Amino acid sequence: MSTFQTLGLGEAVLQAVDAMGFVTPSEVQEKAIPILLENDTDIVALAQTGTGKTAAFGFPLIEKIDPTNKKTQGLILSPTRELCLQIATEIKNYSKFIPNLNSVAVYGGASISDQARLIKRGAQIIVATPGRMQDMINRGMVDISQINYCILDEADEMLNMGFFEDIKAILSHTPDEKSTWLFSATMPKEVSIIAKKFMSNPVEITVGTKNSSNKNVKHEYYTVTARDRYPALKRLADANPNIFSVIFCRTKRDTQSVAEKLIEDGYNAAAIHGDLSQNQRDLVMKSFRNRQIQMLVATDVAARGIDVNDITHVINYQLPDDIETYNHRSGRTGRAGKDGTSVVITTKSDARRIKSIERILKTTFEKKNVPTGKEICKIQLFNLAEKIEKTEINEEVDQYLPEINSHLEHLTKEELIKKLVTVEFTRFHNYYKKMRDIQPMDDNGRGDREPDSNDGSTRYFINVGEKDGFDWMSLKDLLKDTLNLGSDVVNRVDVKERFSFFNTPSEHAEAVLAAFEDVFLEERKVNIEVSENRGGRDRKRRSGGGGDRDRSRFSRGGGNNSRGNYRGGDRSRNSNDNGGGRDRRKRRDRY
Ligand code: ADP
Ligand code: MG
Repeated sequence: MSTFQTLGLGEAVLQAVDAMGFVTPSEVQEKAIPILLENDTDIVALAQTGTGKTAAFGFPLIEKIDPTNKKTQGLILSPTRELCLQIATEIKNYSKFIPNLNSVAVYGGASISDQARLIKRGAQIIVATPGRMQDMINRGMVDISQINYCILDEADEMLNMGFFEDIKAILSHTPDEKSTWLFSATMPKEVSIIAKKFMSNPVEITVGTKNSSNKNVKHEYYTVTARDRYPALKRLADANPNIFSVIFCRTKRDTQSVAEKLIEDGYNAAAIHGDLSQNQRDLVMKSFRNRQIQMLVATDVAARGIDVNDITHVINYQLPDDIETYNHRSGRTGRAGKDGTSVVITTKSDARRIKSIERILKTTFEKKNVPTGKEICKIQLFNLAEKIEKTEINEEVDQYLPEINSHLEHLTKEELIKKLVTVEFTRFHNYYKKMRDIQPMDDNGRGDREPDSNDGSTRYFINVGEKDGFDWMSLKDLLKDTLNLGSDVVNRVDVKERFSFFNTPSEHAEAVLAAFEDVFLEERKVNIEVSENRGGRDRKRRSGGGGDRDRSRFSRGGGNNSRGNYRGGDRSRNSNDNGGGRDRRKRRDRY
C-alpha cells in the first residue's frame, strides 16, 4: 500500500498531511495523485462521496502552482456555496506551509466587490460556484485566461443543478492548453458529454464500480402506510438514541413540516431548504456541525453542500425520483471510512423501486420492521444504563452529596438503581403504552404479523353493519366525523352484516364511548361497546367503492333525523355517489 510519501508529494504538502492527521491515502488519492503529478493530462475521476476527492485534486494542484507568480493559475468549480467554502478551507489547510500561496472562494450571497478585491491582491487558486464566476467574468473582475488547471468538482451535482451553460461559458474564457480535471461521484450522461466536449483524451479512473454505492453504507427499508410515515420516523429516532442524521424529503413543504413536527415532539431538529435565507441556512449548518441538531431535515438541493462526517443515518422520508439522487443521499453517511445506514421509509407502492435501486447500485436492502414501543423502551433503558456507567463524575457535585445522601440513604442499591432508570424510562413507557404499534407489512401492503394483543389500541363493537348500507370505508368516514378526534384515529374497521368492529388508540376510549351516548341511526339507538376481540387480520377489506356515502345518517338526541343537529359543515353526500368517496380519499392523502 502506498503512503503519501511514495505518491510523490513535496515536503510542504507532506507536512500539511501530517498536520491534518491523514495517515494513508484513500483509493482515489492513491490513483489520481501520481498521475496528476507526473503528467499534464485531463482526467475523469469517479469515486463515491466521502472518499477524499478534494485532496485527490487539491494536493497535486498545490504542487503544480507557482506561488511566486501572483496570477490565477487554477480554477475549481463546485456546485454550492457550502462546498465552495469547504474546498477553500481544505486548500488553505493543504497549503499551510507554502508561503504566498493564496486561494479565494467566490460564491453568491456575499459581497462581490470584496471577493474581487481579494482576487486582485493575488489568488493563484479560485474556488467558485458557476453562477458567481460567470458574474465576475462578465464584470471583468477576474482573469482566467491564463489558468493551467480547471477542476470540475462534484460535476454530476453541478450538472444536476443546471449549470451546464454556465460551465460552458466559463470554459470558453480559459486557454485551450490547460488541463481539465473532472471529479464526480457518478457518471450520468451529462457528465460524459462534458468529458467528450471539453476534455482531450482524459485518463479515466474509477474507484469502486461506476454508480456503485459506498460499501460502508448499509441499506434498510421499512414498509408502512402513508399515514405511518411520521410515526415510523419518530420510532426510528427513539430506537437510535445517538442518531445524527439527515432526513430527506421531496418538497420544501414536507421538509418544513416534518422538521416542525420533530421539534414539537421534543427532538433536536431543524429544516434546511431553499426558502431559508443564506444566513438562516448557515446557522442551521453550524448547529448541525456542532451536534446541537441531531436530525436535519433537508431537500435534495439544500443538502448538496452537506459535508459532515459521522452522520449515522440518512433517512429517506420519501424515495427520490431517481436512483442517482438516492445514491447521493446515502453518500452523506459512511464517509471517511465510517459505517452508516441509509434508511428508506416506503409505502407498498415503492416496493418495485427498491428492487431497481438494488439492481442498479448493486447493493441489497434489508427489510426491517418498525421498532415496537416495547423494543424502544428497552433500547432507551439500556442506553441510559450505558450513559450512567460512562458518565464522568463531576466533582462539583461533592458539596451537595451529604444532603442528597441523607435523602436517599434509606434506599437499597437495587431500589436506587430502579428509581434512577425509571425517571427516564417512564417518559418513553408512558408515551408508547398509549400508542398503537406500527404493523409490519409485506411489500404488497398487507400486514404480516398478528397485532400484538397489547398494542395500546381498543376495539369496539357497534350495532350498525352491511344491512344498514355501510362498507368499511363509508363507516370509517362516518365514525371519524362523529368522533371528531382527528383523521388517523379510527382503524381496523370491520363491517359485518348487522354490526361492525373498529379500533382507536386506547387513550380515546372514553371519548369514543361518550361521543355515541346519544346517537341514532334512523329510529335506532346506536349502541357501542368495548369489544374483547381486539381485531386484526380477521377483517375483510371490502375494496368496492360501493356502500352508502351519506355522512349525515347519524343523528343526535332521539330517533329522528330531523332532530339531529349535526356538527360540522358539508356532510350530506348523495348516497348514490359510489366512486366519489374513493376520489375524496385519494385527494385527502395527497394534501
Ligand atoms: P469527497 O469529495 O470524495 O466527498 P472529501 O474530500 O470531502 O470527500 O473527504 C471526506 C472527508 O475525508 C474529509 O473530512 C477529509 O478531510 C477526509 N479525508 C480525506 N482524505 C483522507 C485521508 N487520506 N485520511 C483521512 N481522512 C481523509
Ligand atoms: Mg467533494
